[in-house]
Amino acid sequence: MLTGLLSKEECAECRLCCSFESYDLLDTPTVTRAAASRILQEFLPEQKFIRRGECFLMKMQPLPDRDLYLCPLLDPDRGCIMGDGKPFECRIWPLRVMKRGNETVIALSPVCPVVRDKPRELIRKKCAELSALIFAEAERCPELARPYCEGFEVFEIMNGEVNGK
Ligand code: SF4
Repeated sequence: MLTGLLSKEECAECRLCCSFESYDLLDTPTVTRAAASRILQEFLPEQKFIRRGECFLMKMQPLPDRDLYLCPLLDPDRGCIMGDGKPFECRIWPLRVMKRGNETVIALSPVCPVVRDKPRELIRKKCAELSALIFAEAERCPELARPYCEGFEVFEIMNGEVNGK
């Protein structure tokens, strides 16, 4: 989905967004009911979920020796075993849908070490290209909109002006 902004090769070398520390477990991907069924039926029949509104988060176990939780769908050799059918938040990462006051925005996570250094014009273009789709998904699934945090650069505002012009 982020073709032109982030390549599969760049993701494969990093995988930072598929691992979590205990303080950011609530930032693990939102899984819709349909995606949860697919995970259970096709990938991880024993997977447990935590309810988040109408959606779910996947339960994750820490590594034995570190405060680090790897997504159970992450294969060390192949990357995400869901491929292109991965949860929507993973498909748009490091873009995030966020609630900033009354606004719903598309913002860039400062955590992604690859995209944060890309030209702003390229990011703006990709956000503009995807905004209708991302906002439509956020309307279908309000749990996608995370509370806004300082440091997330806003590129699109739902029904509002485009940032940075
Ligand atoms: S679902 Fe796939 S892309 Fe998303 S965090 Fe898990 S392994 Fe990574």
